[in-house]
Amino acid sequence: PQEVFMRERKWGAPDEFDFMQTLAKLSGTDKISLQPGCSSWYPYIKLQPGVEFPQKYKINNFYEEQMKNKDFLGNPRFVATDFWKEIADEVASINASECVKFPLTYGSMYFLPCERKKLELHYIQNSTLPQNVDIQIKEKIIKLESLMIGVDLMLAIDHPSVESILKLPGFPKNFKELLYKHGCHVIPKSCHTDHWALTKCWFVTFSCMERELINNMNNHHKKCYKILKSLISSDITMSRKCMNLSSYTLKTAFLFHVYGENGCLYSRTLSACICDVLHYLSSNLHHIQMPCFFARDMNTWGNILETPWFQWKGETSSGELGYAFALCWIKLMHKFVNYLQNTISKHTPLSDKDTKTVLSRCDYFKKAVEVVMIYFVKNQLVYKIEKDPGSLESCTDDFFSNFIQKLKYHYNVDLSFVE
Ligand SMILES: [Zn+2]
Ligand SMILES: [Zn+2]
Repeated sequence: PQEVFMRERKWGAPDEFDFMQTLAKLSGTDKISLQPGCSSWYPYIKLQPGVEFPQKYKINNFYEEQMKNKDFLGNPRFVATDFWKEIADEVASINASECVKFPLTYGSMYFLPCERKKLELHYIQNSTLPQNVDIQIKEKIIKLESLMIGVDLMLAIDHPSVESILKLPGFPKNFKELLYKHGCHVIPKSCHTDHWALTKCWFVTFSCMERELINNMNNHHKKCYKILKSLISSDITMSRKCMNLSSYTLKTAFLFHVYGENGCLYSRTLSACICDVLHYLSSNLHHIQMPCFFARDMNTWGNILETPWFQWKGETSSGELGYAFALCWIKLMHKFVNYLQNTISKHTPLSDKDTKTVLSRCDYFKKAVEVVMIYFVKNQLVYKIEKDPGSLESCTDDFFSNFIQKLKYHYNVDLSFVE
């Protein structure tokens, strides 16, 4: 931990932060070189001669005869797991010490025990706010009893050669300057194909550049983004990914809306821009393909799509049915996005009653999807669409209706409003 420095990365909710920590020991061309890996965006990392690094984070040569991988960094999952183990230990030792609480101007803050891959803090406000109400208004001090703060930490290595990024066909060349200014990073995340013990692909991330673009959006678009984020996306920390309307998916759609080839220049009404983004999400969900903003040849949902693997009681399950229900899961997101787009575009401005209905349905949808996702991920019932995912064309409305009924029957979630 002493060899990292912190860099804030996300613009978003005030109580959720992202921090990227770069590993100085491995940052620089004299430390590592990137080698062709599983794809352009999943390179292998080779240590330069003489660079020392603990053997347990390198490729396990036990499985290889020629030792040809001996200087490569190994399974990114081990690195990430150990990183979080250290964070958890650190938090535990702070909590066991005498200075459990950090005093702040108007309150104090302390760490919650770190159980998931997330750093959580609890802020408690004292009753010692300035008595003068004018000061409270002027300094925008709001009385709140307590606040939970979540911090997503990401361990990263500086990408050693941004020049090589420019040669990749998926990178939009008009963002060359931004790339040179903010750089990109390599993070411990593998491509999810089954590599067995020899996994050594890491992931190239453009999160610093993304943050810069999101920060530079005008206030109109920031407002649109906030509204949509609160309506559709819920980020859950799970042991593995599962396709959903994550805030990353939404962020990507916004980057295309504002900075894409047909970028929105006029910032008309909130509903016009929101509907435009929803339309973009809808058509990408239909084709089950959404390019990443800085890696246009990569799917935002990954090169392997993971959905819950629905196997209903009393029915024979086959791979084919697994695929059919995996498509239903994606169609559920698609239908929900369409429902929102239709409601907003047809009934602007929304009446108070309609607004209430939309808000409660959005909350219900997020909660229901979360319940189902957590159940399947916990029980390791995950369906993988590995090759060409096709499109939602083959998923008929009748079959989808049947799926909605089954969700209701088996998990007690009623999502029939999206139909
Ligand atoms: Zn890989
Ligand atoms: Zn716009």
